[in-house]
Amino acid sequence: MRIGAIEAGGTKFICGIGNDKGEILDRISFPTEAPEQTLEQAVAFFGDKGVEAIGIGSFGPINLDRSNPAYGRVTTTPKPGWAGFDFVGYMKRFFPVPVGFDTDVNAAVFGEAKWGAAKGLDSCVYYTIGTGVGVGVYAEGKLVHGLVHPEGGHILTRRHPEDNFIGACPFHGDCLEGMASGPAIEKRWGVKGSELPGDHKAWEMEAYYLAQALSGVILLLSPKKVILGGGVMHQKQLFPFVRKEVARNLNGYVASPAILDDMDNYIVPPGLGDNAGLCGALALGIEASSASA
Ligand code: ADP
Ligand code: ZN
Repeated sequence: MRIGAIEAGGTKFICGIGNDKGEILDRISFPTEAPEQTLEQAVAFFGDKGVEAIGIGSFGPINLDRSNPAYGRVTTTPKPGWAGFDFVGYMKRFFPVPVGFDTDVNAAVFGEAKWGAAKGLDSCVYYTIGTGVGVGVYAEGKLVHGLVHPEGGHILTRRHPEDNFIGACPFHGDCLEGMASGPAIEKRWGVKGSELPGDHKAWEMEAYYLAQALSGVILLLSPKKVILGGGVMHQKQLFPFVRKEVARNLNGYVASPAILDDMDNYIVPPGLGDNAGLCGALALGIEASSASA
């Protein structure tokens, strides 16, 4: 079985061909430009490789309501040409096969639940902390959708007492993304996060914001695993800070051994590493294929 997978990021597209074991056999990556220009390259890559289904994990917001004629479209993005673009329809025109479509972070959490750090678990949340902050939610064995889809990167935060940064989110200023994304770190400290030393105060502050979000999601959804990915989480020293801060916030209230005794295995990096998104898209393709069988 050969499945096409697309990890459609705001700055970069990654396309792959994979099988039902989660193995990626071939891949290509190119910058995200106007939709036709970008997808032409995806179409050329899948070409005559005989894909039986395609899975897409897309930047958003996107329309995931199957009863809506706008299903499969990107909705309100400021990215030139993409607002309202019929992503699923475009791919189906070239490849008349089942197409699975979800957010990039729902794809990542799905991949992690199938083959990664949450393998065998029926619930898990995945945060990406990169250019933006996004959250994918898997609960009771299913990806969670709703009016649109989870947008937990924009929850409001309580300010760190020593933080005067106004926030970088164009919609909310000091929401989680506004305070903790890669660009927020860069604006607050005047240098890219990758250039700050590992013992810089920035990381304790970053952990403070991430831990607030995680504590909230743990109380709300009771996920069996919390996975933190994205460029900013390449700063591995964040993990112990975040775990400690979550434990401090929860203060023994959530009476699970995973939290009380085994936090190191509860808040973790992606088991699939930087492949979580692409493997997740592959998982969406496999699901679409079996749903249509
Ligand atoms: P995207 O979110 O665009 O898909 P990434 O997850 O790689 O891509 O996130 C990019 C963001 O992460 C940038 O703001 C970048 O400055 C930040 N970043 C990348 N690598 C590191 C690092 N090693 N340490 C801190 N920040 C990083
Ligand atoms: Zn916001």
